[in-house]
Amino acid sequence: MRKAIPRVVIVGGGFGGLSAAKALKDALVKVILIDRTNHHLFQPLLYQVATSVLTPGQIGSPIRGIVGEHQNTTVILGEVTGVDKENQRVFVNSADRENVPIEYDFLILATGVTHSYFGHNEFAQFAPGLKSLADAVAIRNRILQAFEQAEAEEDPVRHRDLLTFVLVGAGPTGVEMAGAIAVLVRNTLKSEFRRVKPESARIILMDMAPRVLGTFPDELSQAAKRRLESLGVEVRLGHGVEGIDADGVIVGGERISAKTVIWTAGVAPSPAGKWLDVGTDRAGRVRIQPDLSVPAHPEIFVIGDTASLDQDGKPLPGVAQVAIQQGRYTGNLIYRRVTGKPAPAAFRYFDKGSMAVVGKGFAVLQSGKVHLSGFLAWFAWAGVHLQFLAQSSLRVSVFVQWVWTYITGQRGSRLIVNHYGATRTKSFLPQAPPELTISTK
Ligand SMILES: Cc1cc2nc3c(=O)[nH]c(=O)nc-3n(C[C@H](O)[C@H](O)[C@H](O)COP(=O)(O)OP(=O)(O)OC[C@H]3O[C@@H](n4cnc5c(N)ncnc54)[C@H](O)[C@@H]3O)c2cc1C
Repeated sequence: MRKAIPRVVIVGGGFGGLSAAKALKDALVKVILIDRTNHHLFQPLLYQVATSVLTPGQIGSPIRGIVGEHQNTTVILGEVTGVDKENQRVFVNSADRENVPIEYDFLILATGVTHSYFGHNEFAQFAPGLKSLADAVAIRNRILQAFEQAEAEEDPVRHRDLLTFVLVGAGPTGVEMAGAIAVLVRNTLKSEFRRVKPESARIILMDMAPRVLGTFPDELSQAAKRRLESLGVEVRLGHGVEGIDADGVIVGGERISAKTVIWTAGVAPSPAGKWLDVGTDRAGRVRIQPDLSVPAHPEIFVIGDTASLDQDGKPLPGVAQVAIQQGRYTGNLIYRRVTGKPAPAAFRYFDKGSMAVVGKGFAVLQSGKVHLSGFLAWFAWAGVHLQFLAQSSLRVSVFVQWVWTYITGQRGSRLIVNHYGATRTKSFLPQAPPELTISTK
């Protein structure tokens, strides 16, 4: 140790990084928590911001506020760009400075993942993914804008294209988004438009896999598919997307015209493996040891979505519970090391189960041998998600919003907000002033 009080640098204030910071809050260490955003994001509810149920502020909390009472923790808003393993420092870009070195005695990298378009980065401009609050608001804008454009449009063919929503990827995010859009159009928006019928919107969920929710048991996957279909979602499986452009998608040789395509498929890890120049798995996640450290560097830990660790012959999934448990474990390990206590046993993930919600009042749940679908599973889903929100104020606010939305169908935020001023969206309106050309049939 170079300093009297060891310094622990945590990169990432997501589920893993925050959990590590919490585990270290009473330790005699100095914690520097660096994140490129000023907020911790509850990603499992991002789809509810994208579909107007919740506002961004209901699923994001300022990191500074969450760890405000940790006297040993300093929060830095900045983007880590690299790691110098030999000299034990990370480099950080902030608003006005570049590559500022910050030294560490222990380093925890918990930098998560980003979207992966499986080598087709050209899809990104036409099919936004859902990973950040900015993504969720951009998708919300697109969905709501599509209805506004359709209402102002004369040509019925354009109506069809504007009101076709394609989701690429039928994992939990795709399934949850598809169900939520179906409820939005058939419930909330139904009575508010005069020239188009929101409930006639076409929602298509596609995946090259043979079933939706591929990581769930078959019976739950079938239950989710039936439920989606009962909500009017078209589920197309077994074909990969061949192309995405401004006019829609090409799948199985067929072009589907759609103005809104949302990418809910793959993810790619952060560049932690490149920064460290260590072994990665095929997806690029850093291969870590059973104590979550990096080979030959017992002072560096990589946790959460950006790490790769096998348990019982299978890789651990990229879910919040893995990140939380790994963060807690790493904090505890460092605490024990600095206090001279024996190291804990190797990390072991305790799988509490998985859930996915499909529309209003319906979810699928798998926990050990318990397989549930329907309202009871949805009730459990709601309870668990409320419990894991970062702050009590959010729990209360989300609970009240859910009850309100459940009873009235009204949503928390249906504002179209262009943060950088009004963007020029391709409009089908004729050039003459709208009042001269739009009929009022
Ligand atoms: C839409 C969506 C829905 C999901 N639903 C579920 C669900 O229902 N259940 C479930 O268990 N899991 C779900 N997940 C997965 C879950 O959110 C992740 O497994 C979990 O967030 C991983 O935690 P993490 O700490 O590894 O990364 P994250 O929580 O993603 O945190 C990474 C943090 O690192 C920061 N960061 C990244 N790079 C840098 C850098 N260079 N410099 C500084 N900061 C950086 C980011 O800003 C972020 O705050 C979902 C994910 C998404 C995207």
